[in-house]
Amino acid sequence: MTETTAALEALLMQRSLTDAQLEAAAETAADFRILPDATVLKIGGQSVIDRGRAAVYPLVDEIVAARGSHKLLIGTGAGTRARHLYSIAAGLNLPAGVLAQLGASVADQNAAMLGQLLARHGISAVDGAGLSAVPLYLAEVSGVVFSGMPPYKLWIRPAAESVIPPYRTDAGCFLVAEQFGCKAMIYVKDEDGLYTANPKTSKDATFIPKISVDEMKAKGLQDSILEFPVLDLLQRACHVRQVQIVNGLVPGNLTRALAGEHVGTIITAR
Ligand code: ADP
Ligand code: MG
Repeated sequence: MTETTAALEALLMQRSLTDAQLEAAAETAADFRILPDATVLKIGGQSVIDRGRAAVYPLVDEIVAARGSHKLLIGTGAGTRARHLYSIAAGLNLPAGVLAQLGASVADQNAAMLGQLLARHGISAVDGAGLSAVPLYLAEVSGVVFSGMPPYKLWIRPAAESVIPPYRTDAGCFLVAEQFGCKAMIYVKDEDGLYTANPKTSKDATFIPKISVDEMKAKGLQDSILEFPVLDLLQRACHVRQVQIVNGLVPGNLTRALAGEHVGTIITAR
């Protein structure tokens, strides 16, 4: 046992678990990267999968080609069906925890479909990405599909003023990347990246190739292309210190991002 872990153990036995000195000691304990060679992709629900074959087939081809040189954890978004469910459930005054379960079921559907498309390449969809056989899949076939919604379900911490679950699939995929200490987190969506305003509704929006979380907040862009809690998760992360957003409707973008090219927008923690 190292000196640091001995000190931490002593504190853990004696103090409150939120004691300041204990927290400081826990902070300095080394954090192990579980899957350092893997990259997490999030395939957008509304932005990609809901567009069907025209958007999804070319991405399947890029994923299959990429797994020759990359290990891919492929998370799915939920999208329009989840929004429809949220609107019905919210109208019925159901709580955030129920909406979180409903949203997860749609991300599950998308994972099931993507898994079937990748099946003949030996890539499977797994229930819950919380490890189990994930390392084996990555070692054997370099890819695995998972449902992007975090499994908080009924136990989700509700947002202050809304029944919409605050941690959805952008957050779920980010947490997988961070907890496993993955190499990169790439969001595959339907715009070239972050703009000064929503490009779907603002014609004069300009593209932002690189930006930090603080700059995004200063520009009032915290609730734009990513779920806003992801920005705080990113700022506090140990391993994943930037995320990249690429336009998956442009052939080759995903491949280029995986190769380390700066396509799309890079959002940095600092
Ligand atoms: P997903 O399918 O992964 O859930 P979303 O549809 O939730 O993706 O998010 C992507 C969308 O965010 C884009 O299609 C775009 O219309 C919207 N958006 C809002 N504000 C911005 C912005 N400032 N820059 C880029 N996209 C934005
Ligand atoms: Mg979204």
